[in-house]
Amino acid sequence: MRFFPIDRENNVLNLKKVVMKKDRKLLIAGNWKMNKTVAESLDLVQQLVRELHQVKEVDILISPPFTALGEVSKKVIETNIRLGAQNMSEHTGGAYTGEIAAEMLKEFLVRYVILGHSERRQHQEESDSLISKKALTAHAASIRPIVCVGETLEQREAGVTNDVVGSQIKGSLAGLTSEQMEETVVAYEPVWAIGTGKTATAEQAQQVHAFIRSVLAELHGSSVANQVRIQYGGSVKPANARELMSQPDIDGALVGGASLDAKSFSEIILNSI
Ligand code: PEP
Repeated sequence: MRFFPIDRENNVLNLKKVVMKKDRKLLIAGNWKMNKTVAESLDLVQQLVRELHQVKEVDILISPPFTALGEVSKKVIETNIRLGAQNMSEHTGGAYTGEIAAEMLKEFLVRYVILGHSERRQHQEESDSLISKKALTAHAASIRPIVCVGETLEQREAGVTNDVVGSQIKGSLAGLTSEQMEETVVAYEPVWAIGTGKTATAEQAQQVHAFIRSVLAELHGSSVANQVRIQYGGSVKPANARELMSQPDIDGALVGGASLDAKSFSEIILNSI
């Protein structure tokens, strides 16, 4: 169980933990990637609503493919599950064939958008500078960006994790005001842990999360940095969620594979409370 000041204010023992711990609410998000038809999405969402309707301690987000957003939106509208998108254009509209604008996402009550996922950095060659433009466009539409960063295995083995992640943070979040930064989520996703079954240890993840927060403090001051939620992503499962989520600078998870199954995504959430 994590400790939040509002929940535990009269307990001296727990107050001590409050001082040491964070008061940021966990955000646990599913990234369904290019999976699920509309019918499959509705089936999954129905199970999630059933399993998770009583959860208040964690913010829950699902990010279906664009094609299912409309139907899924109707199912989650009066629930505790929020809707995210997996990408969007840096442009607000016009002659950009195949792209999706922020205002189009807002029609489906999309609250968050995942930007700069390593798969898009790799397959669509998305750069930090493009990601920062998208983040600014998202904020202009009041959609919160979840900006992904993370090193490859080669980079980790070469001992340049902090250099890589620091530079991605500075580049991908360039131009954000401090107010926008507070409303932005960062997802640390070591590329070698995504979809591989290899999770960073809680210590490895915590080290990078603390480093990310120190870079955010350099850019915006520590009070802003302390507001920002930093998610961990990379083979998060029911079995490892609790240990990861109990780290002082880990404020949630971005879950790929395990979010496609109602039981495992629900267990990740319930095990994190
Ligand atoms: C992801 O794609 O963001 C991810 C973390 O995937 P997985 O949970 O499958 O490793």
